[in-house]
Amino acid sequence: MNCRVCGAPSREGMCKKHAKAERKLRDHFRVWAERTGLEWMDYLEAIIENDRTGRLVKEVATYLRSAEG
Ligand SMILES: [Zn+2]
Repeated sequence: MNCRVCGAPSREGMCKKHAKAERKLRDHFRVWAERTGLEWMDYLEAIIENDRTGRLVKEVATYLRSAEG
């Protein structure tokens, strides 16, 4: 199975780089949701629109939005 985001070979659904970015994204969401009550999809949107978001995190957010949205 290859990484669902970049297609790199990986044993799980995502390569190490994107799996790490996804963890970061989800951890961050818990903090945000508590503070702002933001919904998951709105959060992904905000992450994607934010110029300061790292490339890997943005790629994961874009993938999750199309996969879950
Ligand atoms: Zn990847």
